[in-house]
Amino acid sequence: MKVTKFGGSSLANAFQIQKVCNILLADEDRKIMVVSAPGKRTKDDTKVTDLLIAVAKARLAGESYDKEVGAVLARYEEIADELNIERVLPDIEERLLNIVKADYTEDIAYLDSVKAMGEDCCARLVAYYLTSTGHPAKYCNPEECGLYLEHDEAGKAVILPETYDNLAKLKDETDVILVFPGFYGVSKTGKIITFSRGGSDITGSILAASVGADVYENWTDVDNVFAVNPNLVKNPFPITEITYDEMRELSYAGFTVLHEEAIYPVFARGIPLNIKNTNNPTAKGTLIVSKRTHYDSLVTGIAGDKGFCTVTVSKYMMNRQVGFLAALLKIFSDEAISIDHIPSGIDTVTIVLRKKYFTEEKEAIIVKRIKEELEADVSVDRDLAIVMIVGEAMANSVGIMARAASALSNAGINLRIVNQGASEISMMFGVSESYCSYAVRVLYKELFRY
Ligand code: ASP
Repeated sequence: MKVTKFGGSSLANAFQIQKVCNILLADEDRKIMVVSAPGKRTKDDTKVTDLLIAVAKARLAGESYDKEVGAVLARYEEIADELNIERVLPDIEERLLNIVKADYTEDIAYLDSVKAMGEDCCARLVAYYLTSTGHPAKYCNPEECGLYLEHDEAGKAVILPETYDNLAKLKDETDVILVFPGFYGVSKTGKIITFSRGGSDITGSILAASVGADVYENWTDVDNVFAVNPNLVKNPFPITEITYDEMRELSYAGFTVLHEEAIYPVFARGIPLNIKNTNNPTAKGTLIVSKRTHYDSLVTGIAGDKGFCTVTVSKYMMNRQVGFLAALLKIFSDEAISIDHIPSGIDTVTIVLRKKYFTEEKEAIIVKRIKEELEADVSVDRDLAIVMIVGEAMANSVGIMARAASALSNAGINLRIVNQGASEISMMFGVSESYCSYAVRVLYKELFRY
């Protein structure tokens, strides 16, 4: 059995939806389909999810939201008209307006419930269309199917373990195509909760893991994952095969083809993930696996991401003070701040973390606590990009760090942090944000020798 997930660009209009349905019907193993909300039809278009966010924000601000709701409904009307399934529209409209006009007590819960309607309406529409063409299909309601989540931060859902058993029951429904809305689930109290943006990938992964699929197909609009962002380098090297670990590192540092959190559910059950192109279905795509069968190059990919900062803590004889690091880390955990890297020296330790979580308010609290409780010096730098070179084949091969570092130094890029774990699967460089894209290009040129 294959679980197939289609992204927003694959569902942007009636023509794309027809393509998606043809892909699904071309292989009878494709039994479960996960859909995103309709995405952009053209470069300047707006995704349905963004229109819905505008609806919710207008209502929360006490403003009229008629124009925004009208724009969302117009998207579904256009699709339904072209697919000759106008009869589905009253149902979609009713569901959407019920959610939009509902009483709300919490802004965040309201925003999540409205945001989720892009996927929900799309799944209803696609199921209806498939059935209308003689292929029985069923819309799956995440609440009825038991896709339970919890969250303690807006738009950042975490799956509850029982979800896997609940969704496993779907594999018995073999006489009908199941169409599942991506991006959201419900809390145990029935509240709609969304994942972070791009989260339909996570729904697909959870479903594939739950039903024990043979493969999780993630359909998007590129033939492959590339070794580097194609907006930075022309015709980059295609990746035909990559491990979950490599993909996780690259997603962390800015690869956006797949949501970072979509990797774990299928990885944990050893299910391969195939990224494929809706607009070119015969292309093999990129296969993400536990163990690679071949290596096309020493380095698999290079990625860069801005938005990091460093907190550097110094204290004379720090290395001799038992428990210093534990006390330092406790301050961050007390303030619920997660830490990404901890490069250290003898008398200094640097904490690298994402700026979006380390707000200026948190910075003031943490700096004060470090000074008072640890009697140490602290400096904060909010200008850091992380550039990663990733590749399992690099393990035990000599000289890559030397080549990378000298290419960066020849390009005049100052390296603020260098980090390589003993697993040798990745190397991390910290550079000033303004050098992020340039550093990625320089490294690609050196390591892929184009
Ligand atoms: N529609 C949501 C978004 O635009 C989720 C997704 O497409 O995966 O982020």
